[in-house]
Amino acid sequence: MLFGRKNPFSATDAFPLSDAVMEFDDSSSAAVRPARRALDGFGARPAPTSGREWLATMGLMGLYCGALIVFWGLGMVDATVVGVLAAMIVVGCAGFWIVLNAGLVQTIRMRHLNLAIVTAALAGMLAVFYLAPVTQILLTPFAFVAMAYGIFTVPRRTLLALAIGILLAYALVVWLHYAEQNNAALLRLEVLHLLALVVSLPAFIVLMGKVQRLYRSLYQASRKIKNIQEDAQRDTLVGCFNRRYVLAALDEQKQLADESGIPLCLAVLDLDHFKRINDELGHLGGDEVLRTFARIAQKGVRGGDVFGRYGGEEFLLIFPGTSLLPALNTCERIRAQVETHAWTGLLKGRVTVSIGVTQYVMGESALEFFSRADTAMYMAKEGGRNQVVVEEPISKDDS
Ligand code: GH3
Ligand code: MG
Ligand code: MG
Repeated sequence: MLFGRKNPFSATDAFPLSDAVMEFDDSSSAAVRPARRALDGFGARPAPTSGREWLATMGLMGLYCGALIVFWGLGMVDATVVGVLAAMIVVGCAGFWIVLNAGLVQTIRMRHLNLAIVTAALAGMLAVFYLAPVTQILLTPFAFVAMAYGIFTVPRRTLLALAIGILLAYALVVWLHYAEQNNAALLRLEVLHLLALVVSLPAFIVLMGKVQRLYRSLYQASRKIKNIQEDAQRDTLVGCFNRRYVLAALDEQKQLADESGIPLCLAVLDLDHFKRINDELGHLGGDEVLRTFARIAQKGVRGGDVFGRYGGEEFLLIFPGTSLLPALNTCERIRAQVETHAWTGLLKGRVTVSIGVTQYVMGESALEFFSRADTAMYMAKEGGRNQVVVEEPISKDDS
C-alpha cells in the first residue's frame, strides 16, 4: 500500500507532454532521440520531411508557370514557351521524386538539395527568358523569391556566387538576343534590367544574411531547449523516463481513458532484495543492476507503453489502450527475462522482480489506480517474490 507515502500525483508533478514537441524542423538530424520517439507514440506530430522542400519548389515553379500562362493568354508568348516550362517542371518533379524516394536525402545535405532547387528554378527561368524576352519582367521578382527561399539553408557566400553566375548567364542571354535579333531597343531594355539586378540582387543577399544568422540562432536555441526538455524527462541514473514524466503520463492516460473508454493498465515493478545486492556489490554494482533491469524491461514493452523509474528500485509501467490479460502477459515476460538474464558473478540467479498489475476503473482517481497496482506488488512480495500478481479491478457500480 501507499502508507506513509506522499501523494505522488501532486500538481507540481504535472508536466505537459504536448509542450515537449518543438515547432522547429529537425529533419536534418539523423539521430532522433528515444524520448522523441516515445513522444510520437502519444500522438505528437512527426518530424516534417524533405517532401516540404519539393512542394515549395513545385509551388514556386507552378506560380511562374501560372504567370506565363497569363502572358500566353494575353498573346505575349507562344504556347511552345509554356510547353517548354511545363516540360521542365515535369522533368524537375521526376528528378526530385527520384532523389526523395531513393533515400538519397539521408546522404545529401539539406543545403545541397536546396542549392540544387534554387539553381534549377533560376536556370529554368533563364531558359524561358531566352525563349521569350518579354518574360524578363517575371525573372526579377522570381529571382528574389528563389534567393529568399535558399537563404535559410544555403550559405550566404554560396548564394552570392550563385547570384554572380545567374547575372553572367543573364548577360549571356542578353548578348544572344542581340546577336540573333539585332534589336537595339530590346538590348537597352534588357541591359537596364540587368543593371538593376546587378545592383539589387547581391545587396538583397547580403541583407538577407542577417535573417539567416537570426534563423540559425533561433534554430540552435530551439535544439538546446528540446534537449533540455528531453533530459528533464529522463532518469539520470538509468536513462528511462523519470518519476515526474511517468506520473504526468499516468495522469494524461487516465484522462484519455475517461474520455474515450479505452482500457488502461498499470504495473508497479520492484526489484527483490535489492538492499542485499547493494550490500554485497556496493552502490555502484547496484546501480549497474538497475540500468540492466531498465534495459530488459524497456525492451519487453511496446512502443506506446510508458516505462519509468518511480524511485529507488521501483518502476512503473503504463499500458495505454491495453486490457488486463495482455498487460499481465507483458509483465510475466519481463519477470521471466529478468530471472533468466545472464547475470554474472554474485548476481547469478539472484536478481528477480516482483510485479503488481491492475486495470483502471473509469472515474477512479489516479491515486486509487496506483494504490491498487502497488497493493498487488506487495502481495507478490508476500507471496514469495519473483512473481506477478493481478489485482482485479472492482467497478464502482459493483461495489
Ligand atoms: P524487497 O524485496 O522487499 O523490495 O527488498 P529490497 O531490499 O529490495 O527493498 P528495500 O526497500 O529494503 O531496499 C531498497 C534498497 O534500494 C535500499 C536502497 O539503498 C536501494 N536503492 C535505492 N535507490 C538506489 C539507487 O539509486 N542505487 C542503488 N545502488 N541503490 C538504491
Ligand atoms: Mg525492492
Ligand atoms: Mg522498494
